[in-house]
Amino acid sequence: MPLHAPLDALTFDLDDTLWDNRPVMEHAETGHYAWLDEALAAWHGTHLDQNGRYGERFPLSAYQARRLELAKRHPLRRGDFTWIRERSLSELLEEYGLPRSAARMWAAAAIDRFLELRHHLTPYPEVETLLDELRSRYRLAAITNGNADLTRLPLAAHFPVTIAAGEMLAPKPDARPFLAALARLGSTPSRALHVGDSWREDVLPAWRLGMRVAWIDVHDDSERALPAGVYRLRHVRELPNLLQRLDSTLRD
Ligand SMILES: [Mg+2]
Repeated sequence: MPLHAPLDALTFDLDDTLWDNRPVMEHAETGHYAWLDEALAAWHGTHLDQNGRYGERFPLSAYQARRLELAKRHPLRRGDFTWIRERSLSELLEEYGLPRSAARMWAAAAIDRFLELRHHLTPYPEVETLLDELRSRYRLAAITNGNADLTRLPLAAHFPVTIAAGEMLAPKPDARPFLAALARLGSTPSRALHVGDSWREDVLPAWRLGMRVAWIDVHDDSERALPAGVYRLRHVRELPNLLQRLDSTLRD
C-alpha cells in the first residue's frame, strides 16, 4: 500500500470530530420529546382524560427502547436514525390511541423539531479557520452517519462534497460512502486522508481502503497500537501540524 503519495483530498467525519456532539444530542433528544408531550396535551385539551398524558404513558425511556427494537427489526435501516426515530414515534402514538394518520403527522412534527434542535451546535472555535485554510490546498468532503444536515450549517461552504451515509443505507464502516466521496472529489485512497473519531466507523474502514487516517482520539485510548498510516490526534486543531509533517516526509 503506497503511503508516500502526496495528499490531494481530505474527508471528514462531523459529530465529535468538528464539534462536541454529546450536549447537542442530549438537548435535541429531551427537547423534541418534551415538545411532543406538551403539544399533544395542548391539542387534546379537555379530552386528555381519555388517554392520559402521553409523556406519562410513554416516558423517554420507552421511546429509546422502541428505537433499539425497531433497528433490530429493520437491519437495513439501522444507520438511518431519522427514519428509526420517526417510525418509533409513530408506533408509540398509535399505541397511545391516535389514529394512524394523526400519529404520523405528530411524529413528523416531532422529528422536524428534533432536526431543528440537532443543528443548534457550535463547531470547535478553530474549525472555521482550519477548513478555510485547508480548502485552498485540498479537496474536502464530509462523510457522516449522523443526521446533521450540513446544508443547514454555515460550515457547508467548505465542503463541495457531503455524503449522508446513513441515508444511503450504507453507514460507515461500510466502504461505499468513502469510495463515493473520493470518486466525487476525483481522488483515490492513496492520495486521501480521512479525519474521524470512531475507531470502528472511521479509522478501520478508511485504513483498509488504503487511505491515511487522522484519528481524533477523544477518549484518550492511548493503549491502542496504530497501524502504519494511522495518526493519533487529540483534537482536530492538530491536523495542520500532521499534514505538514506528512508533507515534509515526502520531500525528504
Ligand atoms: Mg464521529
